[in-house]
Amino acid sequence: MDSSAIAPPAAPARTPNVTDYDTARAAFSWDEARDALDGLPGGGLNICHEAVDRHAHGTRREHTAIRWLGRRSSRRDISYGELAELTSRFASVLDDLGVGREERVFALAGRIPELYVAALGTLKRGAVFCPLFSAFGPEPIAQRLELGDARVLVTTPRLYTRKVAALRERLPGLRHVLVACRPGEAPPEGTRDLAELLAMADPQRPVEPTRPEDWALLHFTSGTTGRPKGAQHAHEAVVVHHASGRMALDLHPEDVYWCTADPGWVTGTSYGIIAPLCSGATMLVDEAEFDAERWYGILADERVNVWYTAPTALRMLMRIGAEPLAGHDLGALRFIASVGEPLNPEVVVWTDQLYHRPAHDNWWQTETGGIMIANLACREIRPGSMGLALPGIDAAVVDRARDGTVRVIDEPGVEGELALRAGWPSMFRGYLDQPELYARAFAHGWYLTGDLVRRDADGFFWFVGRRDDVIKTAGHLIGPFEVESVLMEHEAVAEAGVFGIPDEVAGQIVKAQVCLNPGVAWTPELQRELLGFARSRLGPAVAPRHIGVIDDLPKTRSGKIMRRLLRARDLGLPEGDVSTLENGTP
Ligand code: ATP
Ligand code: MG
Repeated sequence: MDSSAIAPPAAPARTPNVTDYDTARAAFSWDEARDALDGLPGGGLNICHEAVDRHAHGTRREHTAIRWLGRRSSRRDISYGELAELTSRFASVLDDLGVGREERVFALAGRIPELYVAALGTLKRGAVFCPLFSAFGPEPIAQRLELGDARVLVTTPRLYTRKVAALRERLPGLRHVLVACRPGEAPPEGTRDLAELLAMADPQRPVEPTRPEDWALLHFTSGTTGRPKGAQHAHEAVVVHHASGRMALDLHPEDVYWCTADPGWVTGTSYGIIAPLCSGATMLVDEAEFDAERWYGILADERVNVWYTAPTALRMLMRIGAEPLAGHDLGALRFIASVGEPLNPEVVVWTDQLYHRPAHDNWWQTETGGIMIANLACREIRPGSMGLALPGIDAAVVDRARDGTVRVIDEPGVEGELALRAGWPSMFRGYLDQPELYARAFAHGWYLTGDLVRRDADGFFWFVGRRDDVIKTAGHLIGPFEVESVLMEHEAVAEAGVFGIPDEVAGQIVKAQVCLNPGVAWTPELQRELLGFARSRLGPAVAPRHIGVIDDLPKTRSGKIMRRLLRARDLGLPEGDVSTLENGTP
């Protein structure tokens, strides 16, 4: 183990589900992972059955499935038994509306209980669930509803009136809009009151006998590198949700688990609904947005054991400092995991110091449906590394030649594209209406992820950058993450975004935009100091040639830096698809 690695606790609070990586990997089979689930008679499989009904019919009927924390002080506990009934009611509402198997049910709502009931009830019916982020503006909403041929939309009166009502004529296929009304609120014209429909529906509606290959979920990608793509997932994905929840997030049935991702994104569905419920855990849902004081209060008061969050949230907490943590006891917290963006080493070390638990980075994409590479509870963390391929996942570094051939790179330390041997259960089954794009993502039995990585001699993967973001300068390939990580180590810098701009001599040169820590002023001296700092740490070939300052980096609503926008803005080029931009005008 190298000296900067963080060792796993010698006496863990709970024995991890995976105690030895090599043994678990050697013994793993997807057949056994399938057998760990119930399944349906005759070889059927249904996500809602595995997440909810399985527990509701067993000894965990009274156990709290969802603990919902309202924006203000309201809260609601929903047991597995109650959730089974609510989801049956929702499935039965869909029956009554004539919604058939594999027809699309969209949700556009904040994190309200009805959203979770709709997601799982849709799956119980055998229809396809597609979440939309509630902060989307009308255009991205319309585009996605159209692309996905939405039959039903579950939303709130406010969101409907503000964002959807004016689109209805454009969406003839959208037959039903069901709204979750607050007390005293009436359903707007053209919508129906969801609560009223649920009250009349059948609480015992059995789960639809779906097959493993039946279409279950539609997720749009984050749109970080271009126009969002609709990834299609089958019910079989639940095999990965369950297995990876146990292996990568170390979920135990007794756990209180909190995933801070919004269900508008794949993380918020795979790991913010399905995986924790499959494990029989209690899952927290917080309706409110990020707030350091509130978050620490939740982690402490709700005795959260496993916390799954994003690098951008951890960086914000780091930027704010330790003060809001005062008086909050995080003693119950056993495991922290992070996903979505590279997790810079400084944050890993900082979480270890402040929370006495290091953040475990893991890697996956909308297309993979579940975690593929992870830092496990039983292993050391090498800060900056995404970890090891999960048991059952065959990951390689490959070189994709222009003629389409793919060569596996066996030597450690060499950069190449991350590829996954096709065939894991949660692999996407298509890009909606883009069969050629789907076909192009595969070659010689590998799924090509579009991310560049290195693997060290022990099998740990290190993120270099997205193929689209990588900077080619004077014959070198530079991953923005490496440069950003170094800049963020400077005490003045909170966040950094790095991209390439054209240069006649070098092809491209490296440019950075930094956000400063509170109270730090941007001066020519600081600029020079940062340039020098980066140069001394990275060498002149890799260090940015220009460093500018920016108040906020452009990010997707799922928290990813949109480097293509930094580049476009810098060069005065068209911005392209900005539907998922966090600070954009919706
Ligand atoms: P689009 O495909 O539309 O450009 P996107 O790739 O950002 O958007 P997602 O599927 O939400 O959409 O994100 C997956 C991507 O996020 C990965 O391909 C990778 O580039 C990045 N990512 C996820 N986890 C990590 C991680 N742990 N470290 C580095 N990058 C990560
Ligand atoms: Mg992508």
